[in-house]
Amino acid sequence: MKIEKITSGILDVNTYIIINEDKSECVIIDGGEDFSLIINKAKELNVKIVALLLSHAHFDHAGNAAEFQKAGVPIYIGEKDAEKLKNGETLSSDFGRPFNTLSPDFTVKDGDVLNLAGLNIKVIETAGHTDGSVTYAIDNCLFSGDTLFFGSFGRTDFPTGSFSEMKKSLKKLFAMGDGFIVFPGHGENTTVKFERINNQINFYDQN
Ligand SMILES: [Zn+2]
Repeated sequence: MKIEKITSGILDVNTYIIINEDKSECVIIDGGEDFSLIINKAKELNVKIVALLLSHAHFDHAGNAAEFQKAGVPIYIGEKDAEKLKNGETLSSDFGRPFNTLSPDFTVKDGDVLNLAGLNIKVIETAGHTDGSVTYAIDNCLFSGDTLFFGSFGRTDFPTGSFSEMKKSLKKLFAMGDGFIVFPGHGENTTVKFERINNQINFYDQN
């Protein structure tokens, strides 16, 4: 497994291309907004895109999902955020960005294991940033979207956000084990081992 990271867009979102070199196939986690940027990168790497997995519906992560779908790539997202893709509640208007709505091909829920591009991808529901946010675990890698960041966590003041849910979700991720590397939706990579001790959530009171 090889991971390529591309950072793009007005909010510097991270797109991850997760490649199974044995099959020359990949899955994309959070395509961002720029379709041709990601497609060209996949072409350059000579890999076929078999799925687009979204951590949540916000435009900076999911802005090019409709274009991927049109190109024949199936779209996966957590149940509650699937609704947001359909009705366009993606924060795009708040940031003056266009958004092409879509009906995702598949919804995922806690405990699902997807087999795509020969990779086993485990779904972990991590509500808090949005109610339908999910984290994807592949081997010892966690793709945490806007739930867990290096040293901090995603905003909980957007529609369907919840600070108490965020606390629960972070606890869940910290319990995954110290061997996990974290690939967040924005910013630098980190590890569960580091975040369990140093994350900002630890400095809020425990109620
Ligand atoms: Zn977001």
